Amino acid sequence: MKVLVIGAGGREHALAWKISQSKRVDTVFVAPGNAGTGLDAENVDISATDAARLTAFAKKNEVGLTVVGPEAPLAAGMVDAFQSEGLKVFGPTKAAAELEASKVFCKNLLRHADVPTADFQTFPDAESAKTYLNDREDVPVVVKADGLAAGKGVIVCRTRTDALEAVEAIAGRREFGEAGAKLVIEERLVGQEVSVLAITDGQALVTLPPAQDHKPAYDRDRGPNTGGMGAYCPTPAITAELLEKIEADVLVPTIHHMKRKRRPMSGVLYAGLMMTKQGPRVLEYNVRFGDPECQPLLMRLRSDIVDLLEYTADRRLEELPPLEWDPRPSVCVVMASDGYPGKYETGFVIRGLDDAAKMPNVKVFHSGTASIDGSVVNAGGRVLSVTALGDTISQAKLNAYRAVKAIRWQGAWCRKDISDKALEM
Ligand code: ATP
Repeated sequence: MKVLVIGAGGREHALAWKISQSKRVDTVFVAPGNAGTGLDAENVDISATDAARLTAFAKKNEVGLTVVGPEAPLAAGMVDAFQSEGLKVFGPTKAAAELEASKVFCKNLLRHADVPTADFQTFPDAESAKTYLNDREDVPVVVKADGLAAGKGVIVCRTRTDALEAVEAIAGRREFGEAGAKLVIEERLVGQEVSVLAITDGQALVTLPPAQDHKPAYDRDRGPNTGGMGAYCPTPAITAELLEKIEADVLVPTIHHMKRKRRPMSGVLYAGLMMTKQGPRVLEYNVRFGDPECQPLLMRLRSDIVDLLEYTADRRLEELPPLEWDPRPSVCVVMASDGYPGKYETGFVIRGLDDAAKMPNVKVFHSGTASIDGSVVNAGGRVLSVTALGDTISQAKLNAYRAVKAIRWQGAWCRKDISDKALEM
């Protein structure tokens, strides 16, 4: 079978790498891909949001299964476009992707489904949000743009003054465009953040081992938020007992309510959770694999991922045999360009990739890379996801950082403390 992966990040490289290991697959295409996917699969020069050309490509090349990686094409209806052409595709429809694409929709669904989440109010404009803030007690809140803003449309505020400024930035000055047309203001929660990803076909549910992302740019969670500077899996923040509780109290009622709203969920249901003293609370839902959580997760998956993806797309997930996992933990360290998450320069030649590739239990997934005149260069903010397995989390961390040390380009940097939270727990 031929499989098409849509996207160009570390997540898509990990998906393509894992899919290419399936005995059932002879060709993996990635559109548009990066320098790394060009080595493990075949890159196709079509943008990840060009539904017309992607469906035409899939038909012409007899692609048997397509996997959509990022949120933007999902929110724009990529899955609907493939389905209407009779093509098999893994991912949610546009209607189901609202769960990630609209925080107002998500929070209202959580409230109706009685899923634990931060107390909140929604607002249609800046004025009503400001009146609300001025009338209430001056307590820490979080102000969120309704729509997709690549993780930047969420402002955690200490005081009323901060919150009023956040409202003005999002809904007044529209710094995140139309994403800020509506607002959510919610109670600020405190605790460990964890990612629980499950695969669902709208009916059955397969929960994956819990992972922990590291969103702030610098060590000890300092600095501005990023797309994610590293992740590890599994996390001791969630015991097997707690995971069962999260399935029962969070994931199952969400899937049930999506079905009742005639927006059946299919693909990845990713709960971003805050583990508060009162128990787990949903911060947000994503409807795709997390980047970087996908990389350490797939590093540990022993089963054929194509079965998982296909049974989901065919709505017969219930028949899937239990997934097998490598018992060893994995750690993924993101290497970034100088200046990220702000402005950065691209085009620097990356050296040492071959040395890192020879290291046992290590896989270097590419994010923002390109191949120019036979050299691999940095082409984005997050550049590589260096991922390693180890007998313990400390060993996996050591293996990952040993590989990081072998790789260099001008200005390359990374956090030094990925997975330390697990060791502290
Ligand atoms: P991303 O796209 O990066 O996943 P997002 O834009 O969908 O993020 P959220 O996940 O809702 O936004 O929030 C981003 C971050 O803001 C969270 O990871 C968390 O650190 C913080 N945050 C969000 N809501 C709260 C809250 N209620 N209390 C405390 N922190 C919060």
